[in-house]
Amino acid sequence: MAPLPGSGLAKGLAVTLRTMTRKTVTEQYPDAQPELAPRTRGVIGLFEENCTVCMLCARECPDWCIYIDSHKETVPPAAPGGRERSRNVLDRFAIDFSLCMYCGICIEVCPFDALFWSPEFEYAETDIHELTHERDKLREWMWTVPAPPALDPGAEEPKEIAAARKSAEKLAAAARAESPEAAGPGPAGSGAPGSGAPGPGPDGPGAAGSNPAGPGAAGPRAAGAGSEGGDA
Ligand code: SF4
Ligand code: SF4
Repeated sequence: MAPLPGSGLAKGLAVTLRTMTRKTVTEQYPDAQPELAPRTRGVIGLFEENCTVCMLCARECPDWCIYIDSHKETVPPAAPGGRERSRNVLDRFAIDFSLCMYCGICIEVCPFDALFWSPEFEYAETDIHELTHERDKLREWMWTVPAPPALDPGAEEPKEIAAARKSAEKLAAAARAESPEAAGPGPAGSGAPGSGAPGPGPDGPGAAGSNPAGPGAAGPRAAGAGSEGGDA
């Protein structure tokens, strides 16, 4: 049956009326900042203390937009009679965000928790070359990485934190054994636990082991990562 004349217009007007009565969803950006999801993929931050220059991220990046340069250094043996070791030292770490497709593979594959998503997205440039962020800029993004959500009450302690605490206790015990009077009569591990535990959030740079990304990301991998091993 042929449609009645004017029925298309009536349908269109009905849609318009329905839409007019709905709550508006327009975001008044940039006057008002948008409410972003906690796991928003805005930009990638580099926590270079954790990077061992293993090159996994650069190899797995589908866009080949991660540029890493490094050189090798010889480290003296840790104990007399030991062997010298070689380690990779990072010279350049850059990500070209004009090529990046924000897939997150580099962050997933990094075995040392050196890369993190930050929700920051305001880094548009008029010159495309400026979208290649070098290590200093990638480090700056690191301090905008949100802390992970708190663990559920009664949740098991993450094994990374438990391992970091154990090694801190071991170090404290070794220090006490070397100079018992300096260590004082405190209980075993007093003051040590937590020294290898993660930082509370992206407040500032920390030593290896105080990963700004918080509990989910810190631990022995962070503490022991340094820049050793991991031949490219
Ligand atoms: S998010 Fe994906 S495309 Fe972007 S740098 Fe990482 S691996 Fe490459
Ligand atoms: S440690 Fe992580 S960030 Fe560094 S080269 Fe390896 S995969 Fe990339």
